[in-house]
Amino acid sequence: MNTTKIGWIGLGNMGIPMAEQLVKADYSVIIYNRSKDKEAALKEMGASTAETPQELIKATEVIVIMVADDAAIEQIFNGAEGLFSAEISGKIIINMSTVSPAISKEMAIMCKKRGAEYLDAPVSGSVKQAETGLLVIMVGGDEAAFEQVKPILEKIGKMAVRLGDTGAGNVAKLAINSLLALYTQGLAETVVFANQQGIKTEDLLNLVNNGAIANTFTKIKGDAIIANNYKPAFALKHIVKDLNLAKAIGLDSPLAKTALNTFEAATAKYGEEDLISVIKHIKE
Ligand code: NAP
Repeated sequence: MNTTKIGWIGLGNMGIPMAEQLVKADYSVIIYNRSKDKEAALKEMGASTAETPQELIKATEVIVIMVADDAAIEQIFNGAEGLFSAEISGKIIINMSTVSPAISKEMAIMCKKRGAEYLDAPVSGSVKQAETGLLVIMVGGDEAAFEQVKPILEKIGKMAVRLGDTGAGNVAKLAINSLLALYTQGLAETVVFANQQGIKTEDLLNLVNNGAIANTFTKIKGDAIIANNYKPAFALKHIVKDLNLAKAIGLDSPLAKTALNTFEAATAKYGEEDLISVIKHIKE
């Protein structure tokens, strides 16, 4: 049994398979999720539960958070029974959610004042990579704290790289997700264009995926398009969040603006579906 006691907050599409890697690696894991129904799978694997973030942090040394957005982070830290309502001196809090560098800086300062460390550590990769422990993890924050938790991060991802001070991980993640948005819109538009000219989706994607522009993304999302499978691995509403966060810190390129317009227009109908459901919006 690994001796570090880990608290895990956030059991969404990513949080569940990521936390599972730590239980499989024989860490003692205590979980908390706002909606209790999502705790079942991890409980069955041996994780115990906490009723509040306050109760969770009291019983653990390293706390990992994987929730939706800045508002969720605000709630987890500053809510009535949030992390800051407990004594947190000596703890390391790792926020793996994709959030703004601004909220990371705010929480890092408040953690330091209370004798704790905060690392921003968002991830690249989706549910498939989370299920196999192959995420790519980008970190901002204190170097010694990073070195201390690196063995834990390496159970969740195939690599964990520290890029600089607090917020550096968030900035890198927003840059990567702006490329993700462009890939997604590009793939969707390409398929729709080919279809309009009489080429079948399967035939086009077979060519794309055997040619020079093939990558993991065109393979996974190509299969989803062919299967008409829009079950969310990465919900479309989250790419809208990320493009807006990137815009807020200065991303102002013509392609990024176009992608934001497209995904924002698609959100009302397809926000809860996978981001590749933008193809349905483009077809319409
Ligand atoms: P998700 O399935 O939508 O899950 C969101 C999680 O956040 C749930 O546990 C949810 O709790 C919790 N949450 C939301 N609002 C909250 C609030 N106000 N207070 C407390 N908890 C709250 O999201 P996900 O796909 O796992 O993604 C999590 C984060 O990772 C996001 O920042 C996303 O952008 C990023 N990310 C996702 C992917 C991906 O492929 N999915 C890849 C890389 C990074 P409930 O269960 O109670 O709703």
